[in-house]
Amino acid sequence: MIEIDTVSKLFGAGDSAFRALDRVSVTIKENEFFTLLGPSGCGKTTLLRLIAGFEGPTSGKILLDGQDLADKPPYRRPVNTVFQSYALFPHMTVAENVGFGLTMLGKPKSEVAATVSEMLALVRMTNLADRKTSQISGGQQQRVALARALAPRPKVLLLDEPLSALDFKLRKEMQLELKRLQSETGITFVFVTHDQEEALTMSDRIAVMSGGTIRQIGGPREIYDQPSERFVADFIGDTNFLSAEMIARTGDSAQLRLGQGAEVTARAGQVDKTSGAVTLAIRPEHARLVALDAGQLTGTLDDIVYFGTDTHYHITLDGIGTRFVLRRQNSPDEMRPVQQGERVGIALASSAGQVLKD
Ligand code: ATP
Repeated sequence: MIEIDTVSKLFGAGDSAFRALDRVSVTIKENEFFTLLGPSGCGKTTLLRLIAGFEGPTSGKILLDGQDLADKPPYRRPVNTVFQSYALFPHMTVAENVGFGLTMLGKPKSEVAATVSEMLALVRMTNLADRKTSQISGGQQQRVALARALAPRPKVLLLDEPLSALDFKLRKEMQLELKRLQSETGITFVFVTHDQEEALTMSDRIAVMSGGTIRQIGGPREIYDQPSERFVADFIGDTNFLSAEMIARTGDSAQLRLGQGAEVTARAGQVDKTSGAVTLAIRPEHARLVALDAGQLTGTLDDIVYFGTDTHYHITLDGIGTRFVLRRQNSPDEMRPVQQGERVGIALASSAGQVLKD
């Protein structure tokens, strides 16, 4: 539905021009909760602003339902934006804020009133309709901003880090709320965040960005379990990176020899190689602490970090010196307690690792 076709955006001119987006191509489907995820400065907001029409691309095209948006100013696009700052009018009531855009469009009063009450019900703010927005909490302001953006029934809602001003608990609550709103309204959401957990829990698909480019696009599971390259594996969650030698390959299955000599099977992913040196990514929860001679790796336990629901074990691998992090859920049926400084074995879950592109 939204086709972003080889879009580049340069700020400034000549040699000093800065390339904020570099030949970005992605198709966002109708009714999709699509997330742009990446570190600060990677170009997420710039891409959102191009879709909204606040800026034009330096090259490339953006199409909505097959129509080039190049000549359409922001107010003529069926697109609305929710900003991080909410940008509500403090002297107006909740209802007036939600109805503001519709009134400006010249909609009849009765229609504005009906839509406002429908939107307030949708975001569960009906009881505060007559409060000034300066007299409601941050989370409530967030809901009003959402209701206001949804009121003109845009085809696409752009959300630029809309939850970043909320505290942890409220943020978790609003994540579910946003997901509900998206599926109830059927509007395509394009959501910007640098928070990988937020992206994983809310999105249908995620585009991971870095340095003005898209590094990988996929569903949350695909991005987490099958990262294509080191940047993606590192940015999304904790990952162990191990140097290995590819000794055989059949389709997606690669046979690897690890630095300490053990052989394991892993997914070959998007790697072209059939032999030679590779990097293997293994998630901390895909490994278990075992007796010294019972795993594929051995090492010395340096740190044990307790997190309530789980515990992280930091291990320096024998001979190769690489740090390995292993995560285990805490449960009443504790395994044999281990001590800092102890030598331990590490058993890797079968075929859990992913070979990464260089
Ligand atoms: P954040 O998470 O910090 O908001 P982002 O991924 O949204 O980051 P953008 O705001 O898209 O990043 O910015 C991408 C790059 O383009 C940054 O290096 C930024 O400094 C630069 N940039 C953005 N707007 C302009 C501008 N108007 N003029 C010059 N450089 C700009």
